[in-house]
Amino acid sequence: MATSARVRRILDTFGEMFPDAHCELIHSNPFELTIAVLLSAQCTDEMVNKVTVDLFRKYKRPEDYIAVPLDELEQDIRRIGLFRNKAKNIQKLCHMLLESYDGEVPRQHDQLTTLPGVGRKTANVVVSNAFGVPAIAVDTHVERVSKRLGLANDEDSVLEVEKKLMRKIPKEEWTDTHHRLIFFGRYHCKAQSPRCEVCPLLEICKFGKGRMKAAKGRKNG
Ligand code: SF4
Repeated sequence: MATSARVRRILDTFGEMFPDAHCELIHSNPFELTIAVLLSAQCTDEMVNKVTVDLFRKYKRPEDYIAVPLDELEQDIRRIGLFRNKAKNIQKLCHMLLESYDGEVPRQHDQLTTLPGVGRKTANVVVSNAFGVPAIAVDTHVERVSKRLGLANDEDSVLEVEKKLMRKIPKEEWTDTHHRLIFFGRYHCKAQSPRCEVCPLLEICKFGKGRMKAAKGRKNG
């Protein structure tokens, strides 16, 4: 199958399987989204959502996060991995928002990445979900699924995966595809137990075919 037809088939399948895929981090404005994404590094969205229920009730603006001692903020996010580092970054980020951006989250990707704790992936999530700018943030699910489906090579860095996806996928589909790739990876093509036996993409997935063949060999041997 030609590359573009293959990509189309993959995107259409994602769309059929997860038409309503969306950002699962609960937030009500760009500032809350930025804090939630920062907290989500090496932590599940589910845990972040549990913590932010109370966090966002207590801290509404950048001023609120810097009005408390660091250890109080640490305690408020202690259920989240790397909480000490994240608490420090949140306070630094809030200082910077107040000093340089009138307390608002900037809309530009290159401004976002100057904020403490905000890398390329976080900036992509914020611009696409908060400001409607097409972007593909490559997290662990996006990277794994892209490589398994041959949309990127195994040895590609995260940035290379992002660039390849941006080249292959129409720009107007970047944001939806980002969410669908995450849902596909989180609920179907899981890291440890991908559901290849019922996967509609099995016939074009080299990785899945290899797995099924190995499983069959084990059964027969
Ligand atoms: S066939 Fe398996 S590895 Fe390939 S995309 Fe489907 S679930 Fe993932």
